[in-house]
Amino acid sequence: TENIQLDIRIVPYGEDLRLLVAQDVTQLRFMERVRSDFVANVSHELRTPLTVLRGYLETLGPADESLPESNLKIFQRMREQTARMESLVDGLLSLTRLESPAHQVVQKKLDVPAMLKSICDEIELLADEHPTIELILETDAHLQGAEQELRSAFSNLIVNAVKYTPATGRVTVRWRDEGEGARLDVEDTGPGIAQHHLPRLTERFYRVAVDGCKSNSGSGLGLAIVKHALSRHGAELKIASTIGKGSCFSCCFPEERVVRADSRAESRRA
Ligand code: ADP
Repeated sequence: TENIQLDIRIVPYGEDLRLLVAQDVTQLRFMERVRSDFVANVSHELRTPLTVLRGYLETLGPADESLPESNLKIFQRMREQTARMESLVDGLLSLTRLESPAHQVVQKKLDVPAMLKSICDEIELLADEHPTIELILETDAHLQGAEQELRSAFSNLIVNAVKYTPATGRVTVRWRDEGEGARLDVEDTGPGIAQHHLPRLTERFYRVAVDGCKSNSGSGLGLAIVKHALSRHGAELKIASTIGKGSCFSCCFPEERVVRADSRAESRRA
């Protein structure tokens, strides 16, 4: 009577035999759901007191000129750490939403070139000193997908590239049509990442200390969010990196997600 969940795989066995492996994953899936619900609830409960705390901190400090310099510094630190905690809680909330198969969002045709342009403009405005950001649009292909999820995936990759690359470096964002599918490459001339870290980079909270990097304040959730957002679109994240040369993060979208100019015209006529 209980709903049993099975994970079924076919694995090669010797020359011409195949094994059918069925594993009971009911308990495992149940525990995953408990964990995910717990994280979602805790994050949600933490959100409100944090917002209140930030509100109070914003009204204190810089406004009060009678405070000694050392206290102003303390207020500044408190504001930074509250912002950091808020970004962690927001990251955890996004992750639990992305992990939940039940969480359905509106899928529509997304103008990827316009989205990339607005992300790059926003980052250029926000960062004081940053590497040159070059946006190369080799195609005007659109994607069928969830706007917020893809925007946050692309933005996380571009923000990372800008964050980890020195101001003298370069970040190249390239949107290209692959014939079978489409692909976004975010390439940088930053410090690069050692090969042994690459398979673990998309795990939540996995961080690598980057020498001489201006930011050590990340949450380690960014790439986990990217991976989940992409996999919900049947897309894959590929990472290539060379120490001392730079990194390239690629989002590879399957053909069924790509909407090209001619098919857009057809759907308008229809
Ligand atoms: P965060 O940036 O918040 O630490 P992420 O999940 O976005 O978390 O990234 C995980 C780790 O991957 C980072 O701590 C950093 O060491 C490494 N990383 C990500 N993007 C780059 C990049 N473009 N260049 C070098 N290292 C990177």
